[in-house]
Amino acid sequence: MKKRVFSGFRPTGRQHIGNYLGAVQNFIALQDEYDCIYCVVDIHALTTLESTETLQEDIYEMVLDWLAAGIDPQKSIIFVQSHVPQVEELHTLFSMVTPLSWLLRVPTFKEKVKMQPHNVNYGLVGYPVLMTADIALYKGEVVPVGEDQLPHLELAREIVRRFNSLFGFVFPEPGAKLTSFPLVLGLDGVQKMSKSSDNYIEIAASPQEISERVMTAFTDPERKFRSDPGHPDKCNVFRLHKFFTPAQVEEIASECANAGIGCVDCKKTLAQSISLTLEPFREKRAILASKPDYVAEVLVEGANRAEAIAKETIKEVKEKMRLLPRA
Ligand code: SF4
Repeated sequence: MKKRVFSGFRPTGRQHIGNYLGAVQNFIALQDEYDCIYCVVDIHALTTLESTETLQEDIYEMVLDWLAAGIDPQKSIIFVQSHVPQVEELHTLFSMVTPLSWLLRVPTFKEKVKMQPHNVNYGLVGYPVLMTADIALYKGEVVPVGEDQLPHLELAREIVRRFNSLFGFVFPEPGAKLTSFPLVLGLDGVQKMSKSSDNYIEIAASPQEISERVMTAFTDPERKFRSDPGHPDKCNVFRLHKFFTPAQVEEIASECANAGIGCVDCKKTLAQSISLTLEPFREKRAILASKPDYVAEVLVEGANRAEAIAKETIKEVKEKMRLLPRA
């Protein structure tokens, strides 16, 4: 029996190369070793969304990217959180065993309060309870996380431990699979690549779009003129070369340090490498996008499989809690 991995990802629309090199490649790699469940956590997104206008499109585009990149619906369950309503039920039941003090001390809650003081909704404080319900509903045993997410997972472990001790064992304690997601800086070379910072390159971008975006990238700030020797270790274009032009990084580093190559040519090489690397992805994406119902079918199938597990878990939970069965 393979262990079950659960991972949730907010619907962020078309994926950028930061998502691809971090989460998406990791999702693909886990599929053979584990029984994987990948969930688009649309309810979580509501805690911070100002508007839901693009929510449906964002889900579609993100899932299309996942499928084109290699997340395989034959191997993994891919579904949308709100399509399996049992998670809301488990969230409510878990909220009865979770002391408020545990939630108020969560650092990300405090950060979110600062970030959106005009919208401190209940969902923000209940977020870790819903996250625990996400994992526990499917009896997830392994959760891929970065080091910064460990406190959240520890809280999830505390909640299921408390439930198990009050009502009897139902849930395995989810363990962390510490994953070193590479930090991919954006084209500004300062902040993490993200849509909100507008410093990203979409993996579905055309070669032309990739080239235009790469040309805007910040380089070594100390290299003012073409004749100045560069410092590749201080240049984000060089960091991206490490991912996309691995066979030539030593040569690029040496050419840069000796002022043998100019930044424009260096960026052209990078744009070409990114474009070539992503070519098979773009082709597969275009094929999948030409089948209008494909993404919807994958999500229906995923929700059906997820719901079958969820119903069993909820039945077990209610029995353990001695809730009166409906006659
Ligand atoms: S030549 Fe390339 S690596 Fe060197 S500073 Fe310019 S863009 Fe960066």
